[in-house]
Amino acid sequence: MGKSADSSNRKTIDSTLKRIYAQKRSVPQVMFWILLVLYFIATFIISISASSGASIMIAGRSLPMYTFAGVFSSLSHICVVMITVYYGKQGFVSALTVLFIQLPLILMSVFMGHNLTSLPGVFGNIMAIAVIILIRRNNVKIDAYQDSLRTQAVTDILTGLPNWFAVTELIEELIRKKIPFALVTIDMNGFKIINDTMGFDTGNEVLVEAAKRWKAVADGGATGTFDFIARLSGDEFVLVIREFESDDDIRNSIRMYEAALNDQMDNIGYDFFVSASFGYSLFPYDSGDMDELITFSNLAMYEIKNERSGEHIRKYSKDMQKKERTLEVEVKIKNALDNDKVLYMLQPQYDMNHKLRGFEALARMKDDDGSFISPAEFIPVAEKTGLIDRVDSAVFGKAATYVGNLIKETGSDVILSLNVSVKHLMKKDFLVEISNLIASSGIPAEQLELEITESIMIESVEKAMNCINEIRKMGVKIAIDDFGTGYSSLSYLNSFPAHLLKVDKSFIDKMNTSDSSKQYVAAIITLGHVMGFNVISEGVEDADQIETLKDIGCDYIQGYVWGKPLLPEDAGKLVTSV
Ligand code: C2E
Ligand code: MG
Ligand code: MG
Repeated sequence: MGKSADSSNRKTIDSTLKRIYAQKRSVPQVMFWILLVLYFIATFIISISASSGASIMIAGRSLPMYTFAGVFSSLSHICVVMITVYYGKQGFVSALTVLFIQLPLILMSVFMGHNLTSLPGVFGNIMAIAVIILIRRNNVKIDAYQDSLRTQAVTDILTGLPNWFAVTELIEELIRKKIPFALVTIDMNGFKIINDTMGFDTGNEVLVEAAKRWKAVADGGATGTFDFIARLSGDEFVLVIREFESDDDIRNSIRMYEAALNDQMDNIGYDFFVSASFGYSLFPYDSGDMDELITFSNLAMYEIKNERSGEHIRKYSKDMQKKERTLEVEVKIKNALDNDKVLYMLQPQYDMNHKLRGFEALARMKDDDGSFISPAEFIPVAEKTGLIDRVDSAVFGKAATYVGNLIKETGSDVILSLNVSVKHLMKKDFLVEISNLIASSGIPAEQLELEITESIMIESVEKAMNCINEIRKMGVKIAIDDFGTGYSSLSYLNSFPAHLLKVDKSFIDKMNTSDSSKQYVAAIITLGHVMGFNVISEGVEDADQIETLKDIGCDYIQGYVWGKPLLPEDAGKLVTSV
């Protein structure tokens, strides 16, 4: 790719705009040639039919050839008119040339060949010349009007730079033609303060001055890249950089825009310096979609802006998206908590004879479009952002109240299993929360179970152990969730005060694929029994797995095969129907 971009190459903003719109308006050139050839064929047929005495038979009648001259004459005129209408100046000149060449030939045929049948052709030819001159005059006016409309449509009124519409046309074209480019979004720093303290007029002057400087950089060619800059709205601009060889080229170009802005703005009557933040993403590397590229460069731009580190240029990276999603999910969790929108479902657990053991409460949260956000996504965010105890407590309160009432009404011995985060468990008032929960819901302590994930638990076992022992003393059961994923040592397991081991779904999935996998699950179950725990298998999805689990002595199962997570009312029906 060439790095030179001097103005002799006409790589300016205006030339780019003109090219885009010339392309948009153009009719395929091949049509031009087809019309011209048709014109010559029609003219040729007219000339032979007019001078020939031959005739052709149609429906048993003999018709002289010259009767068809009118048809071909009309066809030839339609061709020149279309060429004039659709092919601008080129079409007009071509049409006029062929008509002027044709005119003396017809005149010669009339006067020298004494061929009076060609006389109407003379008038036709003169009329056609007059018509295409009129069409051309009209087209010139329409074109000028369209050009002014187009200029208005693609120009930002305040700064005279191209606007949002223009830059999207360019981006779409580059994406269509697969031409690599960097999309840079720019936002002035502290522009609101300028507007608030010095008024809108000064704010506008700053925008106009910035636009003027940036246009000079883009058109000057000193960046070595091929640039196009547009104003989107307010103090937001977008820069499209092409013809770079490396990331350094892009950064160097952006630095020139930064430097141009940073020069003191004394010419607008104030002695101040303005800066901006620049974020960029790359086509096709980061995305092939325009909206996504804009979102990505905005992410980078806001990240560098919010850092306030003195640096002003940032390239998009995939981590930013994760951070953004985390932030988004955090806001959704807060909203759900504030508006009592954290929901739960109850997944049944059974013994091997299909007798109901109880339910695991699983948190649910609805997105704005009504779909569920997976707890696998929002629970880790809640853990990271310190919201997990509020989420847990919302589920605890609702599920325990519902199941407590169910137990009161039916006398059922079902167990309610609650997932608890270790962070939550280690809060100093956790024990008080659990005893309050038992008191308020009326659920008997021995029908309440807390699930602690193995992998998280072993990291914090020392600190958590006291609390777990206290919970156990209350009569509440303890389950070790996702067992097998956390590499617990045997000695630690032996001393852990749990009742139940939950074998992780990943082991159950593999269990029937090989004998060794089956032996592995069998060994976990035996180990659990030796340690004095009951064992439940999670994520059991088919009848073969149930058979295998019966063979190797599993105590309980939980999985889609016998029950997906249910709405509380449906779980209630399951209890009352027993
Ligand atoms: P978990 O505690 O291991 O819960 C079991 C997960 O496996 C649930 O996913 C459940 O819907 C799913 N599952 C059960 N049987 C099957 C099956 O046969 N096939 C398949 N494909 N999946 C099955 P869910 O509800 O998405 O929960 C994911 C994780 O989120 C839970 O894993 C738990 O670690 C966490 N979680 C859920 N609710 C809470 C809560 O209230 N508090 C805390 N701290 N964590 C929660
Ligand atoms: Mg669980
Ligand atoms: Mg689990």
